[in-house]
Amino acid sequence: MPAAPDTALRLALPVPLPRLFDYLPPAGQVADAGWIGCRVRVPFGRGDGEQVGLVVGLATVAGDTPPLKPALERLDATALLSGELFESLRWVAAYYHAPLGEVLATALPAALRSGQALPETGRHGWRPTPEGLLAAAAPGRDGKPRRLLLRLAERPLGEDQLDAGGGEWRPAARALADRHLVERVAFTGKVEPIATAPGPTLMPAQAQALAAIRAESGFRAYLLEGVTGSGKTEVYLQAIADCLAAGRQALVLVPEIGLTPQALQRFRSRLGVPVHALHSGLADGERARAWTAMARGEARVLVGTRSAIFCPLPEAGLIVVDEEHDGSYKQQDGIRYHARDLALVRASKLGVPVLLGSATPSLESLHNALQGRYRHLRLGQRAGGARPPVVRVVDVRKRPLRNGLSQDLLDAVGRCLARGEQALVFKNRRGYAPVLICHDCGWSAHCKRCDAAMTVHAGGRRLICHHCGARATPPNACPDCASLALQPQGAGTERIEEALAERFPDALLIRVDRETTRRRDAIEKHLEAFGEQSGILVGTQMLAKGHDLPRLTLVAVVGVDEGLFSADFRAGEKLAQLLIQVAGRAGRAQLPGEVLLQTHHPEHPLLNTLLAGGYPAVAALQLAEREVAQFPPYAHLALLRAEAPTESDMQSFLREARDEFGAHDGVQLNGPMPAPMARRAGKARGQILLDAPQRAPLHAALQDWLPRLQALKSARKVRWSLDVDPTDLY
Ligand code: ADP
Ligand code: ZN
Ligand code: ZN
Repeated sequence: MPAAPDTALRLALPVPLPRLFDYLPPAGQVADAGWIGCRVRVPFGRGDGEQVGLVVGLATVAGDTPPLKPALERLDATALLSGELFESLRWVAAYYHAPLGEVLATALPAALRSGQALPETGRHGWRPTPEGLLAAAAPGRDGKPRRLLLRLAERPLGEDQLDAGGGEWRPAARALADRHLVERVAFTGKVEPIATAPGPTLMPAQAQALAAIRAESGFRAYLLEGVTGSGKTEVYLQAIADCLAAGRQALVLVPEIGLTPQALQRFRSRLGVPVHALHSGLADGERARAWTAMARGEARVLVGTRSAIFCPLPEAGLIVVDEEHDGSYKQQDGIRYHARDLALVRASKLGVPVLLGSATPSLESLHNALQGRYRHLRLGQRAGGARPPVVRVVDVRKRPLRNGLSQDLLDAVGRCLARGEQALVFKNRRGYAPVLICHDCGWSAHCKRCDAAMTVHAGGRRLICHHCGARATPPNACPDCASLALQPQGAGTERIEEALAERFPDALLIRVDRETTRRRDAIEKHLEAFGEQSGILVGTQMLAKGHDLPRLTLVAVVGVDEGLFSADFRAGEKLAQLLIQVAGRAGRAQLPGEVLLQTHHPEHPLLNTLLAGGYPAVAALQLAEREVAQFPPYAHLALLRAEAPTESDMQSFLREARDEFGAHDGVQLNGPMPAPMARRAGKARGQILLDAPQRAPLHAALQDWLPRLQALKSARKVRWSLDVDPTDLY
């Protein structure tokens, strides 16, 4: 394209303004199409403020007032973003009604966003510094860093070799590097072949699924439905192997909780190639390296959590979304994208298959499969001859519960321990008890800043609000009636652990929840320590997935009831998914499994349907209810949320927002209404819900409405956000 001297650069900047910004090229340079997709540094705002923006197009200089400023520096010689990924990000901006600059800021690794050069992606390794060698020779405190230092003192190792060890070595390497004991260097040592393990012979259902995937080329969506342990991962592995053999790259998305060193090791050893990982536990530099290695085609397989969906795939062959129903795929702040939905968009633009796997598919995906938009593949039984567990409802009406546990449940745990096996007691509530109440007047401890009870922790010595983090010491006497009869009501994991310890004093007992697992790899550590020993695990939904426990034969679910009567239209779906996932942990190896559901509502239709027909029956029931109520997937939603320090500011904004909406055929506006938690962290919260049977009118209405909202004076006094396809209505 001929470059004209009066051509400006049109930039997307990472600022929350719904517009693009024009700049002149730096002095002495000429803007042309070669700039598009490159990053530039520009002056922005007052004083010497700067931003890094991305050139998204060119503009003609037309005597702008004030005159355009020149950019400071071009940061990329060739486009950082181009082709399909650039297009998909534009799609994100349009679909979620978000400024392109903010979408780019969400999509790019932090190091690239801030303007750093693309990192080296060649083979690297680690070696000790001279200080490191001295430290290795001297006595030192044992621990992961120390052990890594001793290994490296023997000989430097490549990152691929360290990865092949299967454990998490990066935090230890970072700790050592911070103390200048080791350094990261270009590495030319021998490349050791990855020891590969052959896969099992596929069972007929697996072979059929794979054949169906192989039978087509180009874009196609598959829903692979199979209970936990039915061999979905084996199908992914073979489909990825095909993709690698065809010289293409594969992207595998996993939920936050599913990305364990064991999972990576399984991929690595079965595929025989390095498998790159991308997740929030990595340092900025490591994330940028994985991204760049994919962009350069050096990385062939990337396994990552939600944000990995923004990785470049220049030679894409396949996208897999494991546990596609998992809530962690939806980003809950900033750009509220859904990584599974984006996987569909990208696969279609890339012209490659996308494989959605789950034991408990989301109703959205099931609906798409039923409509014939996705190909539905089913794996019926468990692989390796494992039997499905026996599920039993424990009716606890009119029976005394001690610390939330029934006698039946305790007996079952006792029998399990007597057989030398493992039991899992599941309660999706951390802390000691959900509420502290006064038995004389009914007072209960509430958070001062939220519409919520405070959770009792530390055996009753502390109160913590799970919504804003506020802490308090429990009063000695009731603030309302001065009674001393204050008691924790109900049970969380901490109390259940205490009760089990009292009842089974000799048993090995481990609790797994947010309190006991602050670090990312802590769950794995706990479960590894558990190993094959007989004992009891107590925990929250963190235990629903992950590390295989071959001797786990009893799963007892305490407190099913909270999910049965929730106002959230997705509560039934979520409860059924959780129950199936947790139950799926029992009896995965040769030992038969048993599942107990402790409830006050044994007749509840959801439980009955689940017991009689499993997840498919519950899903059918829920889909029918959604159709009647006109909820997704039969309608499309967008939620406008607002919060402000005062109720009146919040309400005036939402009222004006409603008035600005006008009339849009095929779109219904509901509200303003208070949020389900009307006060949180001291802010008044409200919302407006839009629903529409068809997507197009909804998006047209949003397109028209949002600029009006931005122009409202009352908008300056509130924090507001738009959530397209919300998964939670609060
Ligand atoms: P999912 O991903 O559905 O939970 P996996 O693929 O992890 O299931 O398989 C569960 C277990 O069964 C794994 O230990 C796996 O190695 C084994 N397995 C899978 N497919 C087969 C097969 N065809 N023959 C024997 N074992 C299998
Ligand atoms: Zn009282
Ligand atoms: Zn609070």
